[in-house]
Amino acid sequence: MNNSLDQNFNHDNQTKINWNEVQSLFQEKFGVEIYESWLKKIDFVEEHKNYILLSVSTRFIRDWITSRYLDQILQIIKLKKKELIRIEFSINHNSNKSNKKLDTANQNFLSKNNNVSFIKDSYLQYNRFDSNKRFENFVTGKSNKLAYVASKKVTEDVAYYNPLYIYGGVGMGKTHLLNAIGINFKDNKKVMFISAERFMYQFVKSLKSNDMVKFKDYFRNSDVLLIDDIQFMNGKEAMQEEFFHTFNALKEKGSQIVISGDRPPNKLVRIQERIKSRFSGGLVIDIQSPDDELRKKIINTKSEQLTLINSEQLIITEEIKNFLSNEIKTSIRELVGAINRIVSFSKIYNKIPNLSETKIILKDLLNLPENNVTIDLIQTEVCKFFKISKNEMLSSRRSRYLVRPRQTAIYLSKSLTSKSLPEIGRAFSNRDHTTVIHSVKTIEKLRKEDNDLSLNIDNLKNKILYNKNNEI
Ligand code: ADP
Ligand code: MG
Repeated sequence: MNNSLDQNFNHDNQTKINWNEVQSLFQEKFGVEIYESWLKKIDFVEEHKNYILLSVSTRFIRDWITSRYLDQILQIIKLKKKELIRIEFSINHNSNKSNKKLDTANQNFLSKNNNVSFIKDSYLQYNRFDSNKRFENFVTGKSNKLAYVASKKVTEDVAYYNPLYIYGGVGMGKTHLLNAIGINFKDNKKVMFISAERFMYQFVKSLKSNDMVKFKDYFRNSDVLLIDDIQFMNGKEAMQEEFFHTFNALKEKGSQIVISGDRPPNKLVRIQERIKSRFSGGLVIDIQSPDDELRKKIINTKSEQLTLINSEQLIITEEIKNFLSNEIKTSIRELVGAINRIVSFSKIYNKIPNLSETKIILKDLLNLPENNVTIDLIQTEVCKFFKISKNEMLSSRRSRYLVRPRQTAIYLSKSLTSKSLPEIGRAFSNRDHTTVIHSVKTIEKLRKEDNDLSLNIDNLKNKILYNKNNEI
């Protein structure tokens, strides 16, 4: 089935876009913040002669991306596909959950057209550290304190624990700690920071190009070897053999080895017993899911840092902080991502989002029921609020007391549903789409000038979204 699908998708094109490469370009051109908050969520669906289909998980993200970044995105993808004229987005409600496990580096590795040419070049790459992941900005609590202390200890007292093996679920801060160790050592030691997948990739590549000697030299010369995501190592015997010897040689000469994985050594699969037992031979420590206290601490620290960077003091309300802490419990990565988004939103709209806006912004991260708001529901709620009948709202009468509610309902239909302007027009007694645009613009303008109206609309929004949630 997959095969036939593939054929269908690609029948009219020769070159295939390497999406991982495009994603790397996004990261480069837009910067980490925008990339992590928005663009990373874009999945590639299919490629045609002069357009491509991408998908994201919510309408909100699609609208955000298309309204702000689409032109640049088009230019960037054009670098890889000259014929490109347009980009289409679909909404796939599950899209962002599926590949959460693989971070960008891993995805890059998995792509076949990887163009790291030389061990030498790539060796340099493995010493590039992310300056955002340091000990100083690692927030500690009960669940990760030991891992933090042990990682620091390693930088002060080399090979005190050897190897140090840190394990825990996705987004718990393992890579952050390895990175922090690397930063501390990088100025006076030869540090090799590599994911297990990369290690395998380099191994196979060196084998093919008869560069095994170089490969061994590079690894065996390091003073500090940091291997991330060891669970992805599942290579052939020969590779494990090489790894085993590298490990022993390094340990013998007193080099520090730090390993991270998603499970304890004895639970690793497709890895030789003797290697597992080596991994258990130093200190094995786990990072558990953050408790309530740590989540709060992270929310506070991160939001303070981010608002500082923005120079303007934006203070996220306690209500939103509690909401985040209650809704995003398992992964620190998601928690940090959520705060990033709230700060992006605040920067653009110059205000902290309220609760219903937060729910929309973070919809794909939260396990809230689907937002199935209909125009009909909006009309009902708006009529109730303004105490008019639906007939009046849908009539052609232009009395003042009808015009504002009508415009409000149209405005909410535009912002809370994905209906097009003509569709909205039709739902309001076949009004023209220009009338819809006019209503939306009028309310947008009024919201800026009239605080009471703005508050009323927020309340209405809450009511519409909240009611719907209750129903399901
Ligand atoms: P893992 O490697 O365990 O999947 P990462 O180290 O990549 O997780 O962490 C995911 C994100 O969360 C990163 O942006 C990281 O900086 C952040 N993070 C994780 N733990 C903490 C923490 N204790 N304090 C501050 N930021 C953290
Ligand atoms: Mg990681």
